[in-house]
Amino acid sequence: MDGNMLKPGKIPKIEPLIRVGLILPQDEIESIQVSFSDPQCFELETEKKLYPSCNNQDELTIQFRKGQLHISQLDVTSPTISIIPSIPDKNPYITLFGMIAGRGFHWQKQINASFWGKIEFSVIDGKIIAINELPLEQYLKCVATSEMSAQCPSELLKAQTIVARSWLLANMEQKHRHLGFDICNDDCCQRYQGMANTTDTSINSANDTFGQVLIFNDQICDARYSKSCGGITEKYENVWEGDPVPYLCSIPDVNESGTAYCSPQIVSEDSLKSYIGNVDEKGKYFHWTYELSQSELVSSLKKKCELIAVDILELRPLKTGDSGRIIDLEIEYLDEFDKPQSIVIKSEYQIRDVLSPSFLYSSAFTIEKENDDSFQLSGRGWGHGVGMCQIGALGMAFSNHDHAFILRHYYLGSELKTIYQS
Ligand SMILES: [Zn+2]
Ligand SMILES: [Zn+2]
Repeated sequence: MDGNMLKPGKIPKIEPLIRVGLILPQDEIESIQVSFSDPQCFELETEKKLYPSCNNQDELTIQFRKGQLHISQLDVTSPTISIIPSIPDKNPYITLFGMIAGRGFHWQKQINASFWGKIEFSVIDGKIIAINELPLEQYLKCVATSEMSAQCPSELLKAQTIVARSWLLANMEQKHRHLGFDICNDDCCQRYQGMANTTDTSINSANDTFGQVLIFNDQICDARYSKSCGGITEKYENVWEGDPVPYLCSIPDVNESGTAYCSPQIVSEDSLKSYIGNVDEKGKYFHWTYELSQSELVSSLKKKCELIAVDILELRPLKTGDSGRIIDLEIEYLDEFDKPQSIVIKSEYQIRDVLSPSFLYSSAFTIEKENDDSFQLSGRGWGHGVGMCQIGALGMAFSNHDHAFILRHYYLGSELKTIYQS
């Protein structure tokens, strides 16, 4: 299985195949309905048998049963089932119904999505997993319009595609290697909701950047990105472990007159709705407020930090990054014996997790104690804020900057290079 996976630090000379996790064990899916754009264009392979044209079934249900996978329509039981495009020239696709999108985040929902390429189903720890294997460029066409909408200007879609390609090929995170795929389909890695959101324009934008990546010191850039920096981007080392990354430093995300590219002055909040991904919550991302209640924080501390607090006295930032993101947050509280205690929540990710049951937009906020019952958080931005600010990049495209200019702005000192041709 490892043989098919991307190797970190290796620059491919031809377009690679990639493996994307579509259904993960944590989704706890026990049954999934599958349909085909045309069953004649696929074959279905179980451990023992090959079914050409998927036995002419338009729809199948794959169920977990007694440790294996079962398809009642074909009366088969097998530990693995693969659906393989047999006539790839026709661009056939497979639709999966009721998949999870936005795992664990406030925007989690169920979606139906359609995919090019092969899908392998198997069982790990009693749960169904599904892996989509397809050529990288086909995958990237879907990422640009899952992360952002196909309505976006083409310079934004090109920048988004190059960033997604670079991040993926740099392959520094490898969060899912043990499950046999390179990346998952969600915000944990990058968002991939299949081909249904693509348009001719978005496909052309992706094709225009075929094989292009960002390079720094002869290496593909680990091109991180998030939805909105809030006005200043954050340094790599303030969000993740490890040494500073020269091209992931903190920069003011502003134009010549000092207006933030990601601010409502450049991308109005009303128009933003049509440019962000279709599963994104429609909200205020540049400036937001959140009312954190005592009871909510008390129950979160119990659930996520296993500590008993009866009263929260104060929230105090101990360390703050250049973008205003809090990195260490001290929480002072009274324990069940009315004794004052404190805990330090480390990392912007933990802070966002502990302070909101549905994950706070960002850790760039100031705190005011409203009354004995709640704290008012006034925040900026959405996401970790490192690298490209997607809404800022949209604002730059609206300001007539091309994708190369946008990428130089967010990844200081990087250069664009084509590493393989079509
Ligand atoms: Zn992931
Ligand atoms: Zn920004």
